Amino acid sequence: MTDSLISSAYSQALEVIASVEPRIADATRKELADQRASLKLIASENYASPAVLMTMGTWFSDKYAEGTIGHRFYAGCQNVDTVESIAAEHARELFGAEYAYVQPHSGIDANLTAYWSILAHRVEGPWLSDAGVKNMNDLSEADWEKLRASLGNQRLLGMSLDAGGHLTHGFRPNISGKMFHQNQYGTDPETGLLDYDALRAKAKEFKPLILVAGYSAYPRRINFATMREIADEVGATLMVDMAHFAGLVAGKVFTGEENPVPYAHVVTSTSHKSLRGPRGGFILATEEYAPSVDRGCPMVLGGPLSHVMAAKAVAFAEARTPEFQGYAQQVADNAKSLAEGFLTRGAKLVTGGTDNHIVLLDVSSFGLTGRQAESALLDAGVVTNRNSVPSDPNGAWYTSGIRFGTPALTSRGFGHDEFDTVADLVVDVLSNTEAGTNKAGAPSKATYVLGDGVADRVTKQSAEMLDKHPLYPGLVLS
Ligand code: PLP
Repeated sequence: MTDSLISSAYSQALEVIASVEPRIADATRKELADQRASLKLIASENYASPAVLMTMGTWFSDKYAEGTIGHRFYAGCQNVDTVESIAAEHARELFGAEYAYVQPHSGIDANLTAYWSILAHRVEGPWLSDAGVKNMNDLSEADWEKLRASLGNQRLLGMSLDAGGHLTHGFRPNISGKMFHQNQYGTDPETGLLDYDALRAKAKEFKPLILVAGYSAYPRRINFATMREIADEVGATLMVDMAHFAGLVAGKVFTGEENPVPYAHVVTSTSHKSLRGPRGGFILATEEYAPSVDRGCPMVLGGPLSHVMAAKAVAFAEARTPEFQGYAQQVADNAKSLAEGFLTRGAKLVTGGTDNHIVLLDVSSFGLTGRQAESALLDAGVVTNRNSVPSDPNGAWYTSGIRFGTPALTSRGFGHDEFDTVADLVVDVLSNTEAGTNKAGAPSKATYVLGDGVADRVTKQSAEMLDKHPLYPGLVLS
């Protein structure tokens, strides 16, 4: 019954879209076919449920609702209030957080909102009270200059990009690396693991206002109790960006000191990666930080995407089920299977393995750059992304690594055996790819030559697995 409902709902929706712009309906159909036919191993992607996807396609998209629940700058927001309250309630209960803010449109928005909330709480508030000013509008231009200088002179310490951190954790070209005096911590050059002692020493020397923990490409868990200790020792606010591993926290795979929520002052996240929700962001905070995070709109954000907040509520509700906990555990187990599959075939992994959902393969041992490996894999229907490895000699564009993630294929039902086969297929492609040359015959970091017949062989083997684990199995478009 549900399958036929979903099939007819999407088929009819595509007809409606085609009546206005058939090319968009065609591209939408093709995207489903392409996603069904490829091995999606991008660590930040997943497949949201039809319920989550459908929730995004409604008239909530048409509603403006700047402000907060019950306190909007627009009339007629009663239903948005309902939706936002339910999403926030689910988020609080799912993660055991004191406060949840579900308005950020994306992970980057969540981080920017969190930074300004922390600045408001730690710098602006005390500054205004020292100046004896209750309302910012009462500040003279000269006072504004002083306040701006004070806000603009704060320090942020985050994980460096090549160690696995994210752009928004203080990377120079990102706004976070410009609005703060930034400094970065890395990983141990021998083991590739986070070195808490070195981090502590750097924090003591640098004395950041904000210590950021979290990653996009680090294949290991973090001890957040230690992170909090370090933050406390230097008087920093601990902000954890769990965008990548929120699903593993929600699914109770990361518990105790590996769960950031009891230790961080502020936790930011996306909802669309391992958490398997709609594209979006959210913030969890302690009661102390809640009032400043709640001012995200209008401080940083414009009107919330009400249709996406509704879909976040649906996704959070899904994540509160025992089925989701089973899924999250399988994501972590599958990452181990993939890592073991690579190691037994002689491949080199950053940190030597994984204990989250990410596996970072160093492709230099195949004589390739990340760019060459990514392209060759794509030719064989294996969708990944290239990624820097620590102290990467090929920089952030060509890189020396390929990042793999298990959330998406686990959603399709892949288990240990399939991930072992995935490792086999990847090694087959990479060991049959040679670095290429440019037009002048000089070595090139971008071009490559994939051996004859490899793409066909790998695509055929992938298709057998993908057919056994169809994406949206009951969904048939007419
Ligand atoms: N934070 C981390 C750790 C991420 O990995 C990402 C995305 O890759 C983001 C934030 C940004 O998320 P978004 O693309 O939704 O802005």
